[in-house]
Amino acid sequence: MRLNLAVHAYSIPMRARFRGITQRTGLLFEGPAGWGEFCPFEEYDDAEAAAWLACALEAANDGWPAPVRDRVPVNCTVPVVSPEKAHEIVARSGCSTAKVKVAESTLAEDCARLEAVRDALGPQGFVRVDANMLWDVDTAVAAIRAMDKAAGGLQYVEQPCHTLDELAAVRRRVGVPIAADESIRKADDPLKVAVSGAADIAVIKVAPLGGVRKALEVAEACGLPCVVSSALETSVGMAAGVALAAALPSLDYACGLATLQLLDGDVTSASLLPVDGYLPVLPTAPKPDRIAEFETGDQAWVERFRRVQSTS
Ligand SMILES: [Mg+2]
Repeated sequence: MRLNLAVHAYSIPMRARFRGITQRTGLLFEGPAGWGEFCPFEEYDDAEAAAWLACALEAANDGWPAPVRDRVPVNCTVPVVSPEKAHEIVARSGCSTAKVKVAESTLAEDCARLEAVRDALGPQGFVRVDANMLWDVDTAVAAIRAMDKAAGGLQYVEQPCHTLDELAAVRRRVGVPIAADESIRKADDPLKVAVSGAADIAVIKVAPLGGVRKALEVAEACGLPCVVSSALETSVGMAAGVALAAALPSLDYACGLATLQLLDGDVTSASLLPVDGYLPVLPTAPKPDRIAEFETGDQAWVERFRRVQSTS
């Protein structure tokens, strides 16, 4: 469906480099049901970006399915920073679960960061790590064992390797549960990924999967407990992730939806920031009443939006 909408391209600096970017860019628009955010990462082609558009259009045109809970537990996120900084991020977050990015620095640095995170959380907290497919099987097995020790127990390790076969091989050799992320959202058909032998937990992201309703289908099809994670959206796009976590029949783990602090600013004064480790469930995305501070008018984004619209 082609809509002739007023669109607002934005650019917000990242507080620390994260997944290789220092600036988060995207585009916002308003439809009859509310605001939507279209923010596929810049290197994604139009085919991959189409799911992100479907997610934004669902928010703007249709709204979301009814929630079954009124708040969602979230983890704090620890980028590749010093142990001191990691300690500070976790202690300040109010969250009892921390997700730590690993595999982009040395194993010793990762372990030192994990020790600091455990220290900040205390013995009752949960520590999970995300390797973003950067290891081979043997490296993963050795790293997971070392990190499990450094963290005083890992809740799970997210996407240690690239393929499902590799995940299954790692899973057979370590006791730490395995979560699949890229294996699901980068699949040709996320509804048909046989993750159950390769992972214990499914990470689902609302934008790459094409919206709340689509992601709920994927969650049901994969048959695993799910963790809903963000794609570094502003509060507008984040609200769709919260709507997904709110609509899942069961939610056994804290979700990766407290990533707003990774951005140095937000397009709304009603930011989705956690209070005591939870985010509230909203009926619609917050209004981007501060968009003027970050609006770029970048024509490349407007053209990308029109192009993906016309091919979807
Ligand atoms: Mg991940």
